[in-house]
Amino acid sequence: MNAIMSALCLEEISRADVGLATAASCSVWAMSPIMPPRENRPLMELFTPEFLSDERWYVGSAAITDGRGGSDVENLDGTHGRHIATTAKRSGDEWVVNGHKLWPTDSGGLADVFSVFCTTDPEGGDEAFAIIYVPSDTPGVTQGGPYRKAGMSGESNSDVWFDDVRVPVEYRAHGPYEDALAARAFICSGNVGTGAQCIGVMRGVYELVRDWCDTRVVGGKVLKEHTITAGVLADIVVSIETSRAETYLKARMLDQPEVYGSRDNPEMLARTRVTKPYVSDQLTSVVNKAMDLMGAYGYAREGDLEKYWRDSKILSLWMGGRALPQLDIARWFFDAQTY
Ligand SMILES: Cc1cc2nc3c(=O)[nH]c(=O)nc-3n(C[C@H](O)[C@H](O)[C@H](O)COP(=O)(O)OP(=O)(O)OC[C@H]3O[C@@H](n4cnc5c(N)ncnc54)[C@H](O)[C@@H]3O)c2cc1C
Repeated sequence: MNAIMSALCLEEISRADVGLATAASCSVWAMSPIMPPRENRPLMELFTPEFLSDERWYVGSAAITDGRGGSDVENLDGTHGRHIATTAKRSGDEWVVNGHKLWPTDSGGLADVFSVFCTTDPEGGDEAFAIIYVPSDTPGVTQGGPYRKAGMSGESNSDVWFDDVRVPVEYRAHGPYEDALAARAFICSGNVGTGAQCIGVMRGVYELVRDWCDTRVVGGKVLKEHTITAGVLADIVVSIETSRAETYLKARMLDQPEVYGSRDNPEMLARTRVTKPYVSDQLTSVVNKAMDLMGAYGYAREGDLEKYWRDSKILSLWMGGRALPQLDIARWFFDAQTY
């Protein structure tokens, strides 16, 4: 999947509604481990025609976060899959999947197929890390009701239970070691995608603030003509421009493995891990600055800023919060043996 094109689409949709952007992108993101450059053609041929149907919206969902936590599953180079609670045991020509997942975007009754991040051996390492595709109508799959959240109402999340769920062995994305590599590439694209979503929200906020500061009069002149405000407005643009530079540089790196290396290596993981905390911090700062400038009007439901404010925080929390990116960055750039 072309990372720059995906980022541009995500940015534009997020400018309007980052929840909707999340719902649309996570559906496809769930399928990315079996798509080029590491494609599993039989599985693609089985599932992707459904995604192209114009009859109805066919929905994918990445079930990563376990009942006992999300970061441990994504801490690929720290714990190497050893703390994954969801298991897949081989039984003849089937996988038997058991586990309890939380939060998959597009769950809560929407998902048609889950990519389930699990382990074939909780004592094993990278070789046991597995991504197994499970159609949601398989016996033993239960989706709970949608969670109530502070924001991101354009997408739906719930508990998902897998109780002795049987799928053909061919539904594993690739196989030993290969699934762990596919997961690394998956995280890299998620980091860049999150950056693009943050930029989209910041652009939406910029447009609101621009209108506000053009027309709001205090002390006898419009807000933007006050030096103290102009400095804040300039800082908002600095955040957007530097976030753009960071995000699209990393998207370009993902798209050019012949120059920068494959998206499944630890260096690319560390480099794209920089994107998420940096850009989501810029987003938090931009939304706060905008709220300061707009005062009570920014906080009111009648305006649009408060929605951006409620939607934005999760962009720094998901995919392992702040700690996991820091661990991956320190591991690669300082050879820090921490997990
Ligand atoms: C709107 C929304 C959409 C989501 N979409 C999805 C989805 O599509 N699929 C999915 O599976 N999940 C999804 N999630 C879940 C999300 O990815 C997880 O919440 C997130 O990865 C963190 O996991 P956790 O909440 O279990 O926190 P934990 O993993 O319990 O982490 C708690 C704290 O510990 C820190 N931490 C983590 N690892 C370490 C470490 N090794 N050392 C020290 N500190 C550490 C974290 O940074 C965090 O601050 C979504 C969540 C939301 C709110």
